[in-house]
Amino acid sequence: MRVAKYKLQADVKKCIGCHSCEIACKQEFNLPVGPMPIRVVKIGPRKTDGGLRTDYVPVFCKHCEDAPCIKACPEHALYKRPDGIVMVNKEKCIGCQLCIDACPINAPQFNPELGKIELCNLY
Ligand code: SF4
Ligand code: SF4
Repeated sequence: MRVAKYKLQADVKKCIGCHSCEIACKQEFNLPVGPMPIRVVKIGPRKTDGGLRTDYVPVFCKHCEDAPCIKACPEHALYKRPDGIVMVNKEKCIGCQLCIDACPINAPQFNPELGKIELCNLY
């Protein structure tokens, strides 16, 4: 079974929507404006019994066991390592973005400077 042995997880109850994780990831990988392998989605504000509530959910690749992005890629640029981590081979990626549509959470991000996909690979 090739379920990822390693997984990034976020405690959404503790997330305050400061976006520091987005910025740290972009700085680490020297990414231009646009692609965000980690992005924080705002949900709300919505009415609750006590007033208004807003939630923030960090979204990033889940390294799915039966990854639809891998099946959608016509160039076989996406692949699963033996440890279950989904990777993108940028040499093969042609930037068609079919993987973005195939992913239920739109985790793959298009890098307009490279014309290729960026994906959280846990590094
Ligand atoms: S990019 Fe999306 S579909 Fe592919 S492994 Fe990550 S979460 Fe799953
Ligand atoms: S953008 Fe790249 S990784 Fe995504 S489906 Fe197209 S060729 Fe594959």
